[in-house]
Amino acid sequence: MKAALITGASRGIGAAAAELIAGAGYAVAINYRENETAAKEVAEKITDFGGTAITVRGDISSPEEVSRIFEKIKDEFGGLELLVNNAGISYIGLLQDMTDSDIERLIKTDLMGAILCSREAAKLMIAKKRGSIINIASMWGEVGASCEAVYSACKAGIIGFTKALAKELGPSGIRVNCVSPGVIRTDMNSGLNRETLRELTEDTPLLRLGEPEDVAKAIAFLASDESDFITGQVLPVNGGITV
Ligand code: NAP
Repeated sequence: MKAALITGASRGIGAAAAELIAGAGYAVAINYRENETAAKEVAEKITDFGGTAITVRGDISSPEEVSRIFEKIKDEFGGLELLVNNAGISYIGLLQDMTDSDIERLIKTDLMGAILCSREAAKLMIAKKRGSIINIASMWGEVGASCEAVYSACKAGIIGFTKALAKELGPSGIRVNCVSPGVIRTDMNSGLNRETLRELTEDTPLLRLGEPEDVAKAIAFLASDESDFITGQVLPVNGGITV
């Protein structure tokens, strides 16, 4: 059975992706940072429909914790065929109001975390000469968002990292792609007021905000053999929004 690690899979996009990826026949490791109850609920949903899932606590912004996550993956699964670098946080506010630790926390979680996990996954995948890494970027990494400058920088970094790593790992049979979501209805956007959400909906040609499942379907496509000649690409899932 192929194995997948989905970071930040206790909620939102990661949880929806875990269910679809498990439905596609992968044994899924559901990573989370602190929300154990939610992570266990995702795992239970998967095992209830006959899938295989484990939960793996670990902060992806810490090299030591990433090592521990991958030790557990090796112990439980013996290898890894799919990594979805999904865990992330946001920060909305002016750059000049950000503290050193705000900036460091964002860069370590939204950029370095994906790099650390990809490094460990590459070691396991190169050994078997197969695998797929899917990074979750953001439309703000493509076009930039006012009051989300550091977040946008991290996501632009994720896009560059994806393109470079695809070239580096392609000869080893490993594909690297990223999905670039628009505005998706998850806890990450729970702080946006009704007026902002209405404006974002009106700016979206498909006239609705995205659901976690919309992004999960794109992740499942990039994880599948249906996309086996696709690497180094950015797949936008945004309802057509171009702000
Ligand atoms: P969410 O609902 O806020 O969930 C975040 C997930 O990440 C949770 O499972 C959380 O775990 C986990 N997490 C956060 N920091 C972590 C860390 N240091 N180590 C391990 N896990 C960590 O977020 P979401 O909206 O689904 O976003 C998922 C990804 O999509 C993020 O990379 C985000 O930037 C990107 N994205 C989202 C949107 C959007 O509109 N929602 C748009 C574009 C891109 P706990 O439950 O344990 O806290």
